[in-house]
Amino acid sequence: VLWCDQWAHPSAPAVRPGMVASGAIHKYVRGHTLVLGGAVMTGAARLSARAAARAGAGLTTLLVPRQVWPVYAGGLLCGMVQPLDDEDADAVAAAWSRQLGAMKWHSLVMGPGAALGLPGDDAAATLRTLVVDALLLADGRGVVLDADALTAFEREPEALFRALAGPAVLTPHEGEFRRLFGAGSGEDKLSATREAARRSGAVVLHKGPDTVIADPEGRVVVNTNGPASLATAGSGDVLSGLIAGLMAQGLPAFEAACAGAWLHGEAARAFGPGLLADDLPEQLPAVLRRLW
Ligand code: AMP
Ligand code: MG
Repeated sequence: VLWCDQWAHPSAPAVRPGMVASGAIHKYVRGHTLVLGGAVMTGAARLSARAAARAGAGLTTLLVPRQVWPVYAGGLLCGMVQPLDDEDADAVAAAWSRQLGAMKWHSLVMGPGAALGLPGDDAAATLRTLVVDALLLADGRGVVLDADALTAFEREPEALFRALAGPAVLTPHEGEFRRLFGAGSGEDKLSATREAARRSGAVVLHKGPDTVIADPEGRVVVNTNGPASLATAGSGDVLSGLIAGLMAQGLPAFEAACAGAWLHGEAARAFGPGLLADDLPEQLPAVLRRLW
């Protein structure tokens, strides 16, 4: 077990996201992060995308139901927005697979604000289809699953675990962890998270003041730099995008999760009191500058 403030020491060469030096770099080389956007809670995915961009991804694209496309497109300056057909569950799944197949991308975020308003009788079932399709199409590219994308599998977690093959980070808060992995009664958070990573085959980042990050091989990091001001709506959405932005630039899943948690905490500390989730991505450049 390592503590994140030791692990993510400023001299660690891996923790150098967003630092572009040479003229041979173009935006695709810096990584392209995709984010699935929801039809009702339209802020969450935008926070994720913004964090991915501030973490250094060269491109971010939101894929969103067509009915809410103008909401997203009107509120974004540096990100792209692609509409997904949303007449019914089959249409959205077909559009999703088509877009993931057609675009050149390096990491993907699913979950923040994703389920509410998805087409079909059962929005969670539609979301499960999108998640499993994405994991199939990812083919070694990084996937971050958070919030609704985890809860959608609460009745059939094994369906998710079977689909997890490549680099993936699951970022549950306490409630989402319990829904996906069960109560784990009597177990401490560290053992429960380590077991969850082993069982799912993914990196599991179990959020809270003591964020525990475990990989399937048994490595564990505890990150404690986050202040209580992080307990604010949307802060977890920022974290998932931040991790995906790091993965898009080539950080492995476990390293991206650890560095993401640490940067998230540092950004909150740098901002100080009165923090809102939208302040976190804007604070990242100041934190990254300290690592140069
Ligand atoms: P979410 O619940 O998905 O919005 O995620 C909340 C984020 O804030 C996670 O990164 C948590 O680790 C962090 N967080 C929540 N409460 C606290 C706290 N009391 N102290 C430090 N970090 C916190
Ligand atoms: Mg959340």
